[in-house]
Amino acid sequence: MAEPILATHGLTHDFGPFRALHGVSLEVAPGTMTGLIGPNGAGKSTLFNVLTGALRPTSGTVTLQGTDITGQPPDALFRAGLARSFQIPRPFARMTVLENVMLAPKAQIGERVWGAFLNPRAMAAQENAIRQKAMEVLEFVTLAKLADQAAGEISGGQMKLLELARVLMGDPTLILLDEPAAGVNPALTEVLIDKIETLNRTGTTFVIIEHDMDFVMQHCTPVIALGQGRVIFEGTPEQALADPVLLDAYLGA
Ligand code: ADP
Ligand code: MG
Repeated sequence: MAEPILATHGLTHDFGPFRALHGVSLEVAPGTMTGLIGPNGAGKSTLFNVLTGALRPTSGTVTLQGTDITGQPPDALFRAGLARSFQIPRPFARMTVLENVMLAPKAQIGERVWGAFLNPRAMAAQENAIRQKAMEVLEFVTLAKLADQAAGEISGGQMKLLELARVLMGDPTLILLDEPAAGVNPALTEVLIDKIETLNRTGTTFVIIEHDMDFVMQHCTPVIALGQGRVIFEGTPEQALADPVLLDAYLGA
């Protein structure tokens, strides 16, 4: 394949005596929507945490567009174009939807950029630019009309769209989504999928953890499966459905 946008080599992660990832090596081709599947406890979220710098691997490497990014902190990776959503969104409940989106670059880019704007007028201009971008992003994810609502009052599905909005503030080239459709009603799932596909068509690469095999079958290729911290399958969704090792992993879980 073309140079992978993301590659891991021999990634291992231990939580104390428990080995959650056992030498995971995989490659993500640019422009794909790669599905990451596997039974509960397989290590999918841990892999995302290691990929995005939330956890430092015990051993192994992560490469983003040919550059070794192993152990780099999330804010540096956000600036480098790698963003992720969380399985359980935790917006600041009492802040508005808009404020939550505006915080994304501040939280993820870090204070470095903001510290450079000690001049109040420059700071106000920066704030305005972020506000404008946040509104555009909210428009895109169909949440603009909820901009001034407290984030704690929106539905679970709307929170997933809010997660996507926060991710998009970084203009990412690679987005990792942890169970984007879980707990989202069918109407909002359709909106979410439409947005993901629009972004994918315009060049954004996705890695998506999802349990819903219909979702994976219809939208993801290739499919990579983890089982007990190891890559146990890689192929098309059709091959995944017919794979005895995968069936066994799911039934055995
Ligand atoms: P998945 O997302 O595939 O369901 P996780 O990556 O969340 O799986 O978890 C993989 C394994 O690592 C599970 O056995 C889980 O209990 C364990 N684990 C996850 N996070 C921690 C942690 N912070 N401390 C100890 N064990 C953990
Ligand atoms: Mg998980």
